[in-house]
Amino acid sequence: MEIIKNKEYELLIEDMTVSGEGVGKIDGYALFVKDTVVGDRIIAKVIKVKKNYGYGRLISIIEPSEERVEAPCPNARACGGCTLMAMTYESQLEFKRKLIENNLRHIGGFTDIFIPPVIGMDKPFRYRNKAQFPVGKDRNGNIVMGFYAGRTHSIVPCEDCLIGSNVNAIILAKIKEYMVKNNVEPYDETSHSGLIRHILIRIGFTTGEIMVCPVINGKSLPNEDELIKMLSNLTFEGDRKIASIIINSNTDKTNVILGKTSRVIFGRGYIEDYIGKIKYRISPLSFYQVNPAQTSVLYDLALEYAGLTGSEIVWDLYCGIGTISLFLAKRAKQVYGVEIVPQAIEDARNNAIINEITNARFYVGKAEEVLPSLYENEGVYADVIVVDPPRKGCDEALLDTIIKMAPRRIVYVSCDSATMARDLKYMAEHGYRLEKVQGVDQFPMTGHVETVCLLSRKAPV
Ligand code: SAH
Repeated sequence: MEIIKNKEYELLIEDMTVSGEGVGKIDGYALFVKDTVVGDRIIAKVIKVKKNYGYGRLISIIEPSEERVEAPCPNARACGGCTLMAMTYESQLEFKRKLIENNLRHIGGFTDIFIPPVIGMDKPFRYRNKAQFPVGKDRNGNIVMGFYAGRTHSIVPCEDCLIGSNVNAIILAKIKEYMVKNNVEPYDETSHSGLIRHILIRIGFTTGEIMVCPVINGKSLPNEDELIKMLSNLTFEGDRKIASIIINSNTDKTNVILGKTSRVIFGRGYIEDYIGKIKYRISPLSFYQVNPAQTSVLYDLALEYAGLTGSEIVWDLYCGIGTISLFLAKRAKQVYGVEIVPQAIEDARNNAIINEITNARFYVGKAEEVLPSLYENEGVYADVIVVDPPRKGCDEALLDTIIKMAPRRIVYVSCDSATMARDLKYMAEHGYRLEKVQGVDQFPMTGHVETVCLLSRKAPV
């Protein structure tokens, strides 16, 4: 059967891609259709035809899947951030578990490893502690704040993202009121004019502290005192107030949200939060996990898998701001962290100081260069090695050095189970046994999943 562009077809969604698109077949021809769920019988319009597969747009659902729910956010389809929102949370977790299982099986060659259910959240909404809303104007000249539609830069109004905090909408409404009253124009990227570009809001979930950071195309705002007054008078659930207001200047013609300079106009230049018992200082530019509740679950597992007794030497590669390193330091003799971003290492060192941790040392550089060089030149040693690489996984030069160092245990934390499976396979071929695998849902409603694995050395070398 020839598949014709712009024609509508009926099909059953039978599978899902890693990014959460449904896949169905028309007479053997695979069609990818966004916004569908496995088990949906749908009508789709074909929008792109390739030789062996094509893309379709969902026109209507003839028979909804049993796994389908009504997406609680009216913007779910336009926004595209929460690709799994139309699935029950249970099916989302099972989708993620299967993803890990399939990658370990097909890429890693692990056919008999047990993958337990992914650890989810009791309330899988309102979990993000950070939000960045672009500010602009709609066709009628009204100020809008929300998200960029698809791949464009037109703003869909949405002041209350359901995976973000419910304080966001209150803060945005107040800022809008201030803008209207003081004739403050939103930034217009085509003419590079106007003032307010983005509103960044960060929250310390355990401390309750809130930071508001307008990103502006200039140095200051008109009537800043009034903005300070309006925002600092707000009281939120639990009697919380805004702890910090910071103006960030970004006058460049760029898609990068934050500029390099910040000026504190109210409160402190940072807020604080905890993951487990470790305290973190968060400024507008610093990296911090967006779902601290689940991060703590993930790191507790990493700690358990590391099996520390207090006498171990531990290396934490790709350590970021030292989150895992500091988590492990209290149970180890000495922890070493390696990270490529110098600013993150500065934060890691500060975080060690504010937590009075003295047995953590950090190196700036590529893990695949720093560790091999320290091993060749200084013969560094490890009882346990933790890796938490970005999506592309570990470099083979790093894996080779890890294998030479022969730690008793390796804890692999991953945000991409495909590259993780590839790296685990390599380690399994070089003397390690995959003992445990556990998925943790850090990003409910989206297609992402974090995985933590334990490998142990098969025989003493
Ligand atoms: N473990 C940290 C961060 C993990 S994210 C945490 O939980 O907070 C992965 C980190 O690897 C990022 O901080 C990134 O900057 C860093 N990175 C990327 N490539 C790297 C490389 N080649 N060597 C060392 N670090 C790298």
